Amino acid sequence: MLPAAVLRRAQAELLDWGGRGVSVMEISHRSPDFMALAADTEARLRQLLDIGDEHVVLFLAGGATAQFSQIPMNLATPDQGPPAFVINGHWGHKASQYAALRGPVHIAARSDPLSIPPPADWNLPDDSAYVHITSNETVDGNQFAEFPQTPCPLVADMSSDLLSRALPLQRFGVIYASAQKNLGPAGVTVVIIRRDLLERAPSDLPPVYSFPQQLAKQSMMNTPVTFSWYLTGLVFEWVAEQGGVEIMAQRAKRRSAMLYDLLDRSGFYRARVPVPFRSRMNVTFDLAEADLLPRFVQEAEAVGLQGLKGHRVMGGLRASLYNALPLAAVEALVAFMNDFEQRWG
Ligand code: PMP
Repeated sequence: MLPAAVLRRAQAELLDWGGRGVSVMEISHRSPDFMALAADTEARLRQLLDIGDEHVVLFLAGGATAQFSQIPMNLATPDQGPPAFVINGHWGHKASQYAALRGPVHIAARSDPLSIPPPADWNLPDDSAYVHITSNETVDGNQFAEFPQTPCPLVADMSSDLLSRALPLQRFGVIYASAQKNLGPAGVTVVIIRRDLLERAPSDLPPVYSFPQQLAKQSMMNTPVTFSWYLTGLVFEWVAEQGGVEIMAQRAKRRSAMLYDLLDRSGFYRARVPVPFRSRMNVTFDLAEADLLPRFVQEAEAVGLQGLKGHRVMGGLRASLYNALPLAAVEALVAFMNDFEQRWG
């Protein structure tokens, strides 16, 4: 979901962006106007997450999936141990599989998909090129509540929770996120990299996949996804206007608590994930009577509650509660669920 105010502004600017008589999609990405937009977008993100000079920010294409390959290409050099993976669900598993196509990987920990392996139990060699985690497992519905200090660079896929809370930036080697959950429309992928890690990139990488070469070209080695970049900038502006990531965190806590409270009170619904590991972005749950699931989804859709069917690999139900979702939407979901339980429980 995108903030309605952002969509209205994009609509208003579609035929005439800032008095230029054309939309942002119709100007050159090398024009001073687009370069200014790019710089402004980065500055806004830096401000929102308090990103200092020790990290660089890239706006790339290819989604988080491209990063599953691009990060090992740039960071896993032969003079280090294999990259380590903490697998806490669907996407972390996929990231490890893609890295394994490029060279050996080490599995530092693997949880059942409903929890997070405690950092004290990770088997993490000090010379690991990096350790990869998925801060919020979108499919499974678990989320790191805190981030550990690690002996090697911490790399985090934050595709489904970036901008939903403040972060201890100094703990991270790399943070990456595709835009389409909290940041904007699909297209652009934000990659935040500790500057010293850029030195690891082999010089013979295909230039478009090289972090240092993309940085040298301000993420514009080739034509970037300009409209997604622009809209993402508008979302950054919206987050700042709302009061920043602390406000996003408060809202996420409130939205998810409303739903988890209902799930925990009910014998009819069951939350999947144990309390310490629960995601504030994706709430996964089941019906005690699984046969009622198609009816639940159908009735929910009929009253405008969309996208509740769980991910195809996990089944069950999932409510995604991203930044732009108004609290009223969760209230409507809770009211519907109470009513459904009364009729079918
Ligand atoms: N990681 C996570 C945590 C995700 O939620 C997703 C997509 N939902 C991906 C990776 C893959 O992202 P993309 O489709 O943008 O490559």
